[in-house]
Amino acid sequence: MDNNLGDLYRDIIIDHYKYPRGNKKIEKSDVYREGKNPVCGDEIEVSIKVKDNMVEDISVECVGCAISVASGSMLADTIKGKPLDEVKKIAKIVKSLLKGETIDESVDLGDLEALEGVNKFPVRIKCALLSWTTLIDGIESLSEAETLTTSSTE
Ligand code: ZN
Repeated sequence: MDNNLGDLYRDIIIDHYKYPRGNKKIEKSDVYREGKNPVCGDEIEVSIKVKDNMVEDISVECVGCAISVASGSMLADTIKGKPLDEVKKIAKIVKSLLKGETIDESVDLGDLEALEGVNKFPVRIKCALLSWTTLIDGIESLSEAETLTTSSTE
């Protein structure tokens, strides 16, 4: 069997699952989104605090399988302190990585590289994507709201 479970549950994934980063409440969030993956039963709440177009703080609370929790934890770890544009770019790369597509190797993915093994397990891809789609959904709602308030002259 090529689809070794060891590729899926790498040590780094287990570590993020056991000790999820960003699993705490933040006081005043600018973006709050809930996400669900009904196929697996994963549920997630993502809150971020934005300052000067950067992610100042993030909270990810995920109840679900190891892959969804680990992916959410890595997300929290990776995007804190990053500009929103870069966050969107990273989310795209993660999507490609999970689909087994060629990725932009100039970007340092850190722990996220451990998610690469998930692309051999199609049923788990949604689990790994949940936190990212929920986050991007939230960020996009934020920029829409900003456009509404700042583009009144157009
Ligand atoms: Zn799952």
